This record gives sequence, structure tokens and C-alpha cells, in this order.
Amino acid sequence: MSGVEQVTVAPVPLDRLAPLLTPERVERLETYVAVAQRLLEGRTIWNINSTARGGGVAEMLHTLVAYAAGAGVDIRWLVVGGDPAFFTVTKRIHNRLHGVPGDGGRLDADARATYDVTLARQRGEVVDRVRRGDVVLLHDPQTAGLARELRDRGALVVWRCHVGLDEHNEWTREAWGFLRELVEPAQATIFSRESFAPDWVDRRWLRVIPPSLDPFSPKNEDLDDGEVEALVHRQGLVVEGDALPTDGRVVLQVSRWDRLKDMVGVLDAFAAHLEDLPPDVHLVLAGPETSGVADDPEAAEVLAECRARWRSLPERARERSHLVSVPMDDLDDNARIVNALQRWATVVVQKSLAEGFGLTVTEPMWKARPVVASAVGGIRDQVEHGVSGLLLDDPHDGAELAAALSSLLTDADRCEEMGRAAHERVRDHYLADRHLIQYVELFAQLMGEV
Ligand code: UDP
Repeated sequence: MSGVEQVTVAPVPLDRLAPLLTPERVERLETYVAVAQRLLEGRTIWNINSTARGGGVAEMLHTLVAYAAGAGVDIRWLVVGGDPAFFTVTKRIHNRLHGVPGDGGRLDADARATYDVTLARQRGEVVDRVRRGDVVLLHDPQTAGLARELRDRGALVVWRCHVGLDEHNEWTREAWGFLRELVEPAQATIFSRESFAPDWVDRRWLRVIPPSLDPFSPKNEDLDDGEVEALVHRQGLVVEGDALPTDGRVVLQVSRWDRLKDMVGVLDAFAAHLEDLPPDVHLVLAGPETSGVADDPEAAEVLAECRARWRSLPERARERSHLVSVPMDDLDDNARIVNALQRWATVVVQKSLAEGFGLTVTEPMWKARPVVASAVGGIRDQVEHGVSGLLLDDPHDGAELAAALSSLLTDADRCEEMGRAAHERVRDHYLADRHLIQYVELFAQLMGEV
């Protein structure tokens, strides 16, 4: 078990975004940067989460920390460590906040003790670094247990939750019961959707702030066709199936190996409806190397389930489906491979059973790819059905997925139009300027400025 680590992120000047924004947006951003510089003079903003790589929170922090630092703000990012027992408990909470039991274990006094002991070991190290008046952004359940001491230290503490379910059930209620006393000391909370928040969260200090992506990061920067081809055909990526096709079209899902992303469900739907799809279409399911995401203990098991399912498919389905494991030893390289896969795909799928936001939807939308995605959680905010992508009413329905894919794969004009609308949607709603401005507004309110 490792302790607290600081992640180093190189500052990026905010001007880089300017060519993508209208003059009004640039001006508004400049106004807020000036406010931030004044408000945050002599203070540090701390982001604390539990992994530096893999998953949407790490992805988003790399971008935002870089831009905020580029704007002259003293912003740092700490990662708390944990042993497998801690991450088993936090993954259980994560699953339950998405409305499913996960590993079926209990969130009882033992689970609380496991959770507490891990954070107790690191609390001193975190609290010592933070000064009175600093702002601390705690991300997700893994770090909620730091709120009370940080508040006692005199910091302004915000807990940001990136997961949730629109309609609460017995599992979400249990997880929120576990988290309540940990979260309550925070002065404010941030959710990706308001419906995710339990009743007891103080609405006056709840903010809805969806994530954003960085168009210039290795994950999203432009790549030419030659670069895309070279990256996707890199040796050693495919773990089940033939080498990726050099002709033919590709339907892609990229996700962590998490049951709620339902990679197996995509594979099943593809295999069951193979005959309804054009004959040149292949399926690619890609996820990170399973040892690469520190706070996700289910990954190896879920990948193993997918591999077993792939092996059980009829030969004609195996010939046209491929499981890809993207190396995690070099993060920029990992990002470029994901970028290339998203650009290479004709259609991108996200058949999640629950989703906090889903950067794996935003990313292909930015790349002007049509997406077919479940109408769950934050995906519903991103995709306007029939305009910037297609939404699936029932995330469990493989036939609905296949029909949506088929309708796009037989209509190139529609794909192009949808891709264009998708790109514009991300440009208008999911870039860093909107995200940073929302943070500054909240900080100003916390400091009593407005
Ligand atoms: N991702 C990645 N490498 C992979 C698989 C996923 O970098 O092999 C990234 C993906 O591009 C996205 C993030 O992990 O930026 C996943 O974020 P999302 O919000 O979709 O879901 P989460 O994993 O947070 O549940």
C-alpha cells in the first residue's frame, strides 16, 4: 500500500483554447481568470483522488489542473493510496451508487473500519500540506473521509461526486447511508447531475458541474490518417481475435473493464445480430491493461469474462470481433492509441448500464463520430437523440443496439451530419472554459464574495 503522492502536471496556457471559442467566450473566460487570480491569491487549490491514471476523473484532472496552473493559479493534485481491501470497499460503494450490488459484500462496521484505517494512515500527510483558507476538492467516495479534518484545518472543502443513478434504489440508499457522515462536513458538493444527489445534500451548496475534455491533449489532438493507421495496427494490442482489419468498418467501445460498461453485452448483441449488420463491419472492444488502474479491482475479472465469452462465440462472430488491451505504462501513448481507435471507428458505442458522465462518449463526439449510447446518467445530457447521436432506451436490449448500429452503418450522410452536430455539442458545452468558470463561481460564493 502506497501513501500520498503528488501528481505533476505541466501548466498549459488557456490561450490555447481561444481559437475554438467565440470572442464572447474568450472575453468571459478572461474576466473569470482575473477573478480567480484575485480570489485565490495566497491560497492553494488541492485536488485529491485515488488514481493518477485510468478512468474519467484522472482524465479530467490532467486537463483542468494543467489549464488552471496555466492561468497562474497554485493548484496541486494529490493521490491517496490504498490496499486491495480498501479498493474492494470503495468499488462496492461505487457500484452501489450506480444502483447495483457489485461484489455483494456488506457496507457494515467492518467495511467502515477498512475504509477508515486506510485514510487515517494518510490523513496527517494530507492535512499537514493544506493551509487555512486553501480550497480542497475531494473526488468521489475514496476521499470523502478526509473532509472533516480538512475542514477543521480551516480549508474550504468541496466534495465532488462523479457517479450516480437518476432514480435511487436500495443499493444507492445503502451507499449514501455509508457516505453521509463523511460528506456532511464538506461546505459544498458537486454532482454531474442533480438527480444523483441524495435528499440530505444541502441544495443551496450543491452545484451541477459536468466534466470537460481537452481538444489538445494526446487523447483528443488531431491525428492524420497515417498516424491513426500506425497506432491502431500496433503489434500486441489484440488479446482475443485476429489482427484488426485493414479494410472494412469498425464499431468501437472503449471503457475500463467494469461490468457497468457492459462490454459483454456489446459482444453478445453484435454476435446475435451479426446478420443484420453490413458484412464489412467489425467490432472492437478496447480497455486499459488490467493492472493499470489502481482503484479498480474488478478489471481483471471482467476482462477474463469478456475473453471467455468471446471464445464461446460461433466462428463467424469471432472472425469479426476483437478484444484490445491498451498498455498503461506510458500514459500519453495509451491516450494516443485510444484517440486513434476513436478516429478510426465508423460508429462508437457506449452501452453502459449506468454512467456518471461518460467521457468515452464526449471524446468520439469531439472527433465527429456518431455515437450510439445508453440513455443513462450523464450520457442523456450529452447526446440529443437523433441529432448528435442515438440514445438507447433500454441499455439491456441488444436488439435495439443492433438496429441503431444498422441504421447508421447504412447511411453515410446521416453519420456525417450526426458527427458534425456531435462535435458542435462538445464545443458548446464540454470544454474547459465552462468548467473553470463554474469552479470560480463556486469559489467566489464560498468566500462570501457574491
Ligand atoms: N480510457 C483510457 N484508456 C483505456 C480506456 C479508457 O484512457 O484503455 C479513458 C477514456 O478515454 C476516458 C476515461 O478513461 O477518458 C473513462 O472515463 P469515463 O468518464 O467514460 O468513465 P469512467 O471510467 O470514469 O467510469
